[in-house]
Formats: sequence, structure tokens, C-alpha cells
Amino acid sequence: MSTPLPKPPWLRIRFPSGPQYERTRRLLRGGRLHTVCQEACCPNMFECFAHQTATFLILGDHCTRGCTFCAVKGGPTAPPDPDEPRRVARAAADLALDYVVLTSVTRDDLPDGGAAHFAATIQALRENIDKVRVEVLIPDFQGDAQALRTVLAARPDVLNHNLETVPRLYAEVRPQAGYRRSLELLRNAADHVPAIFTKSGLMLGLGESDPEIEAVLADLRRARCRILTLGQYLQPSPAHHAVARYIPPEQFAAWRQKALNMGFSTVAAGPFVRSSYKAKESFQ
Ligand code: SF4
Ligand code: SF4
Repeated sequence: MSTPLPKPPWLRIRFPSGPQYERTRRLLRGGRLHTVCQEACCPNMFECFAHQTATFLILGDHCTRGCTFCAVKGGPTAPPDPDEPRRVARAAADLALDYVVLTSVTRDDLPDGGAAHFAATIQALRENIDKVRVEVLIPDFQGDAQALRTVLAARPDVLNHNLETVPRLYAEVRPQAGYRRSLELLRNAADHVPAIFTKSGLMLGLGESDPEIEAVLADLRRARCRILTLGQYLQPSPAHHAVARYIPPEQFAAWRQKALNMGFSTVAAGPFVRSSYKAKESFQ
């Protein structure tokens, strides 16, 4: 195993814990809810929880895939919990959220990949929170167009699906996914509901080159993707894919400007940017 790169100074994490952080954590635990914030060891967890923001992880906390960059556990899955949509809606209401981000583990073991459960959760949120806006960060549903339509029929405001990295690295870091399949999902969503805001994101630092990043951004624009996030990949443990490089904040700023020039309507780019970081602010 190669020696890990030393972390640059701009990646020192602040820990603004406090009463609001504790309240959010207790509320999620009481509702028997998972968040991607905790499962994926997100570096923004303390900040987001302190601001009453969390990304709900539905359909369990065990994934049927094994991306080599991801901290989410593999292992046995359980059937979707029919009461989970209600509990998510209740927690979101208790947290006074008016913008909710829902995501899930990938459930290749379910016939619809969990699409109906996404739709039920969106519906529960709409029934419980007046004027709520919902962003869904969905898996690829193995390319199942009907599963995508099931989610779209529940009218999410933003449909997010991350490409995560450049096509050359898929076999290494996302072996069960397909670059073209993920791109097609975004294109199909824009074809099916032209008014929807589609969104995608990449982690930088997995071993990609700058021309490869630019080519992916061009592909996303051709698929009419409107919102983009670019963040630094951080290795969750020594067993995960190694960090190939740390991108300085000024390079992220340059990528942001380039992406805006390419036609994205909103771009969040920075070392700590994650798919759902300040999602509400990205969609105004
Ligand atoms: Fe959770 Fe997203 Fe914030 Fe990370 S950036 S803590 S995943 S809401
Ligand atoms: Fe993690 Fe998603 Fe890959 Fe599952 S499919 S291992 S949750 S990145």
C-alpha cells in the first residue's frame, strides 16, 4: 500500500458542535432514521447538523454495491420499511425543513430498485410539510426506465444522480455502475420532465486528469444537466481507494467558473462540497 498523501492545511475540519447539533442527532436516532451524513462520514456533518440540515438515507444502511471510495456498509439488506416515509416526514417537520434531500443505498436486490419507496417518501413529505421542496439523489436503478418514471411521477423538484468520476476510473472505483448508463439516466429525466432541475456531481482526486474532467462536464451539459457539484475525494479508511491529489481551493474556483461558462445554472465547487452541501442554496 502506498503512503497516503499528507493532508493540506485547507482540509482541516471545524467541529462546531453544540445544542442544535445534539438535537438533530437525537431526533434522527429517535426516528430510527439513517443519514448519509453519518453513514458516509461526511466532513460537513457537524456544520449541517448544527444548521438543522441532513440528508436522509432511505431503504436501509447496507448497500448491494461496493464502490471503492464509499464508506457505506455492504451486507444483508432488509425489505423496505413501509413506515419509513412517515418517519422521514415527521423528522423533517420537527427539524422545520422546507428543503429536504433524500437519498438511498443502491438496492439491486429489489425489483424496482426502491423507486416506489422514493415516491412514497416524497408523497409523505408533501402531505406533511406545506410547500416543501424535495431533492432526490437516486441510484441508477440498473438503467430501469420505469423505475425512473416512478420517481419522476412523484414530482421531485431536483433529480440528482452523481457520475462521481470520469469513465476511465469506473472499473476501479464504481465497478457495478456504468458511465453511459448514469449519463442516460440524467438525459432521460430531462427528456421526460423538461422542467425538472437535474443535478450531478464528481469527486476530484481519485486519479482523473483535468481534460477528463472537462470531457465529463461537456457530457453532462449535452445531457442537459443544470446543477453541478465538485468536491474533494477524501479516503474514508486505509482500505479505500487512495487519494491521488488534493485540489487547492483556487483550482476549485476555476472549475466553477469554467462550468458556469459551459452553461450550468448553478455550480458548487470546493474541497468540502458534497452532493447535498447547502443544497437548498443551490436551488433558489
Ligand atoms: Fe449531510 Fe450533505 Fe451536509 Fe454532508 S453535506 S453532512 S451529506 S447534508
Ligand atoms: Fe456507496 Fe452508492 Fe456505491 Fe453504494 S452505490 S457503495 S452507497 S456510492
